[in-house]
Amino acid sequence: MGRRLGQHFLVRNEILERIAQSACPEPTDIVIEIGPGRGALTSHLLARVDRVIAIEIDQVLVQYLRAKFRDEPRLTLIESDVLKADLSQWGPVTVVGNLPYYITSPIIEKTLGLRELLLRAVFLLQKEVAERVAARPGTRAHGFLSVQTQLLSTPELLFTVPASAFRPPPKVDSAVVRLIPKRDLPVPDHAAFLHFVSLCFRQKRKKIRNNLLDVYDKTVLDSIPETAQRAEQLSIPELVALYEKLRQT
Ligand code: SAM
Repeated sequence: MGRRLGQHFLVRNEILERIAQSACPEPTDIVIEIGPGRGALTSHLLARVDRVIAIEIDQVLVQYLRAKFRDEPRLTLIESDVLKADLSQWGPVTVVGNLPYYITSPIIEKTLGLRELLLRAVFLLQKEVAERVAARPGTRAHGFLSVQTQLLSTPELLFTVPASAFRPPPKVDSAVVRLIPKRDLPVPDHAAFLHFVSLCFRQKRKKIRNNLLDVYDKTVLDSIPETAQRAEQLSIPELVALYEKLRQT
């Protein structure tokens, strides 16, 4: 089985149950599970949810899952790369997964991109990435992923999971985060705003001014005091204010 696909299987029942409970604290219609693996979390989800859609890329695991759950009509197995799957086709959903760590950021981006079709997301991630997701401005962990996640959702760090809870154990500890989507955003076009933010963070240790010199006029940049800071120091409202100021120039 390829570690290339981030295949570390959770083997502690109490942790699997806590993840399922965090994702579905009340009766839930439909859950999308990303990367079901051998179906350990899937079983805990099926105990709580009317319907589980499980998306797995590994053909061998999909065959294993089809056999394991052959008497379970409430499970729909999709053999696909989650990044290529259309997650919007099932209507409003909860998304959950012990994520393959090599594509954590694109999965978060894709899930939050569901916007009003997302009820909540619960993900098991590397602890260091979970900390970045929830980081406050002015801290070392604060970066583009923090802004992207916190613009579109309110993240909560729920609990940490030691590497020893997996087979084979990964090299790092992990943590469970819950993302509750925000309904009202401070910008009309969040994709355009996030593109601007990505430019501000292009070289994280540099001042915003230097990161934006290719895109905006130097005199304009120098007339705005916030551009003398590093992007990691600014809150989302401050980044929005800067974006609006530069858009008007
Ligand atoms: N949920 C299982 C568990 O907790 O034991 C397995 C989690 S394992 C960390 C990640 C799973 O995601 C693996 O089964 C892997 O094959 C699958 N996977 C990796 N890349 C994927 C992709 N692009 N799309 C869908 N599944 C993927």
